[in-house]
Amino acid sequence: MDVSEVAPELQVAAGKPLLRLPLVSSNVTTVADALEDLRVRDSRGPLWLTIRDDRPSGLMFFRHCYANRAVAGTVTIRYRAPITNALNPRGAAPPLELRTEDGGFSGDADGATGRSAERGLDALYESGLYVMGGLVHVYPAPLPHEGFMSAWQGEPPFDARSLMRWTRTLYGSYLRFFRAPPGQPYAVFLRRNLVNAGGGVEVGRSFVGTFDEDTKEKDFELTLAHEMVHTFVGTLDEPQGLLSSWYAEGLAVYYQRGLPWRAGLIPTAEFLADLDTTAGRYYTDRLNDTPKREIPARFWADTRVRVLPYDRGSLYFAHLNAEIRRRTHGRRSLDDLVRRMIARRRRGQPVNEAAWIALVRQALGSRGVAQFHAMMSGKLVLPPSDAFGPCFERTTAPLRRYQLGFDSQVLMEPARIVRGLIPGSAAARAGLRDGDRIVKPVPQDAIQAQQRTTLTLLIERGGKTFPITYLPRGATVPAYQWRRRAAVPDRDCHL
Ligand SMILES: [Zn+2]
Repeated sequence: MDVSEVAPELQVAAGKPLLRLPLVSSNVTTVADALEDLRVRDSRGPLWLTIRDDRPSGLMFFRHCYANRAVAGTVTIRYRAPITNALNPRGAAPPLELRTEDGGFSGDADGATGRSAERGLDALYESGLYVMGGLVHVYPAPLPHEGFMSAWQGEPPFDARSLMRWTRTLYGSYLRFFRAPPGQPYAVFLRRNLVNAGGGVEVGRSFVGTFDEDTKEKDFELTLAHEMVHTFVGTLDEPQGLLSSWYAEGLAVYYQRGLPWRAGLIPTAEFLADLDTTAGRYYTDRLNDTPKREIPARFWADTRVRVLPYDRGSLYFAHLNAEIRRRTHGRRSLDDLVRRMIARRRRGQPVNEAAWIALVRQALGSRGVAQFHAMMSGKLVLPPSDAFGPCFERTTAPLRRYQLGFDSQVLMEPARIVRGLIPGSAAARAGLRDGDRIVKPVPQDAIQAQQRTTLTLLIERGGKTFPITYLPRGATVPAYQWRRRAAVPDRDCHL
C-alpha cells in the first residue's frame, strides 16, 4: 500500500521528534519496522531521519523519528507499507494489522502520527481511521456518505449482505430509540481473523468484526447489536476504566437482546436463550460476590471476575427496570434514565457515577441508591420473576460451575506453567499435571457460559507436545433461569 500524508503548518525544533509510529499497538505488530521507501520533506526540501525505538514493553510502544534539522511548513510523508498475511507474532490481538484477502486489504491506519502544535496527524490518531480497499464488497451499494455503511473482504461462510441488511435495520431502530440525530456515518467492517475469530474492535464510530470458517450469521447478529449499543451509550467519565464497566457493558448486554427483540429482529426464543446464557454464567459464578473495587486488579487474571461487569451489570439494569416500572405502573422505565444520561452528554454535562446515582434517587428514592451500592459491593442481584415481561417467569435449573482446574493466573503469564492443579478436578482427571507448559493461550469468557463445551489445552511436557481435552466444570448448583410461560402468546410478550 502506498501511503502519502500531508501535515500542514508543522513547526518542529531540531532535536525534537518529528514522527512517532507504534511498533506494537494493542498487542498488534505494525508495519512500522517494515516500511519501504520512507521519504519525508518540508517546504525547504528533503529531510533525513534518525530513528530511536522504545524498549518493548506492554501492549503499545513506539518508534520515534528525528529530522536532521528544524522542520517548518507543510510536511509530506510517503512510504510503501508491505502487506503480509503472517500471523501476529504476539498471539491473540484485535484485527488491526494490514492484511489482504481475495484482492482486498484492510488495516488500522491510526499508526503513523506526527506532532503538531494545534492540529495535524495527532488528530488523525485520536479520531481513529480504519481503511479497507481494493476488491471489497459493500452494502448498501453504492456506499452512502452518511448513515450506516458496511464493507467486507473475502468470502465469509455466511450471507454477509443479509447480515448487513439486518444490522442496518437495527441501526435505524437504535437511532430512534436513543433519540440520536441521523446522518452521522457509522461503518461496519468484516474480515477474517485467524487467531481469535468472533470478536471485534471499535475504531472511532466504526466496528471491525471478525469471522472464520465456523462463524454463524446468528452469533454475529448479537455481537453487532452489542457493539452498536456502545456507540450510542458510551462510557462513564468517572470513575474511569474497569471501575465503571458495569455501566457500559451492563447496558450493552441488557440492550443487545432487548432492542433487537423489541424491533422484531430476533424471535422471543432467541431473546430468552441469550438472557439465560447471561443468567447461567452469573448464578454459577463462584466469584459473583466480588466487590466492584476488587475487579480491576483481578480482571485479567480470572475469567470469572472478567465477566462480572457484563453479567451482573445487565441483571442490575433488568432489576432496576422492573422496580421503576412497578412504581410508575409501567409509565416509566430504565430507558428514560439511559436517555437522560445520553442527553447529559449532548449538553456537555458530566456523565459519571454521581449523575447516575442522582437519577436513580429521583426514580426510586434511597431504596434505589441502596440497591446500587449493594450491587457494587457484590451482593447477589436477583431481578423479580416478571422482570422481563409477562411471557417469562423465574425458575432454577441445576447447572455446573465453571472450573478451570488450576490457578488461572498462569494463563496470563508468558511462560504459562501449570500450578495449583485441583486434585480430582476434570483437568486433573484428564491428565494435566503441575509443571506442564501450556503452549497456546486459550480464551475462556465464552466457554464459561457453555455448560457442555470442552476446553483443549496444547501441552508441552518432557519434550513432547500433545493436547489435553476436558469439560471445565465443577460442582452442580441450582442457578436462576427464566422460562417461557406457555399461556401468554408471543404478541403479548413485550412490556
Ligand atoms: Zn462490550
